[in-house]
Amino acid sequence: MPSQFTKFTPERIKKYEKSGYRIVGKHKHTGVQICRWTKSKLRGERNCYKAAYGIRSHRCVQMTPTLDFCSFSCKFCWRTFGEDRFKAEKKWDDPKTIVDNIIIAQRNLLSGFGGNAKTAKLAFKEAMEPAHVAISLDGEPTLYPNLAELIQEIKSRGMTAFLVTNGTFPNRLKELIKKKAFPTNLYISVYATNPDDYKFITNSFIKEPFERVIESLKLMKEFEETRTIFRMTLVKGYNIKDPEGYAKLIKIAEPKFIEFKGYSYLGGSKKRLQMSNMPRMEELEEFAQAIAQHTGYKIKVRDKTSRVIVFIKDDETWKWNMQKIKEQDAYFRKINLKQAEKEIESEIMKVEATPEEMS
Ligand code: SF4
Repeated sequence: MPSQFTKFTPERIKKYEKSGYRIVGKHKHTGVQICRWTKSKLRGERNCYKAAYGIRSHRCVQMTPTLDFCSFSCKFCWRTFGEDRFKAEKKWDDPKTIVDNIIIAQRNLLSGFGGNAKTAKLAFKEAMEPAHVAISLDGEPTLYPNLAELIQEIKSRGMTAFLVTNGTFPNRLKELIKKKAFPTNLYISVYATNPDDYKFITNSFIKEPFERVIESLKLMKEFEETRTIFRMTLVKGYNIKDPEGYAKLIKIAEPKFIEFKGYSYLGGSKKRLQMSNMPRMEELEEFAQAIAQHTGYKIKVRDKTSRVIVFIKDDETWKWNMQKIKEQDAYFRKINLKQAEKEIESEIMKVEATPEEMS
């Protein structure tokens, strides 16, 4: 009889726990890790740049329902992965179990901050009641079969759901549309502008990744009430080229936002790339502006620490974005639009004022 595949052996779980992860649920496919910005905010320092979308980092749970399970093994990915990256346990936990457990794990992981003199007291109290779930930690979340129900479960508790996908499973996005399981933010990550570069950069386990991503991009405009974001991870010498090609893809998706993220020489990617593959902030901005010339999007936020630049479609979209933040804040913080707007502008200013870090 063939032996049953077990991805998360006790040794592997221990390794993950040593790096600050918690693997939760009966079937061991969900991971949680505290984001650096959650810690930053708890120390009374700045928020992540997603302040522009209403994220309060100290209340954000960074998780994945598909730990180490992905259709890609990208050259620039900072995680360490092996041959079994596209293999998973066959059984899945239900969304309620997942949400209950990630909240418990987040509280446990943060509990040490409570006794620390450097912790901002109000922030710690708020952090015990998470308001955001970033489905982005690792793996490809559209491989989780109950993703629609997971998003509905998160939103039914008043929390926002940020979904980051590599776009290789358009049928799952169709399912979200059909079930009206719209995430608060939907990111589709785009890594190149033609099939050959796509395969080379992503080391895809599945056929025709570029064609699948285009199919997903075509669905983006159907997420009308969602913040839709076309996101690029840009690696010098690999995919910082063909601005017209990216502009064409952006026109297919008609996203509300575009994000340009510079590659960071970190973790597992150090075995595949060099420090010289990291673009400088000025190089990122030059490339972003070249794409903007073809699309008409306007720059909104520059984060030198994360080396991210955010562009927005137009002023109307920004007004709509602020209204959405107000609705979030009305639920969680009971503050009015003016106050919310003031706070967001001040967080964005802090993001822009932070000097670039070379990690
Ligand atoms: S949105 Fe992302 S970067 Fe910001 S706090 Fe949450 S996990 Fe961290």
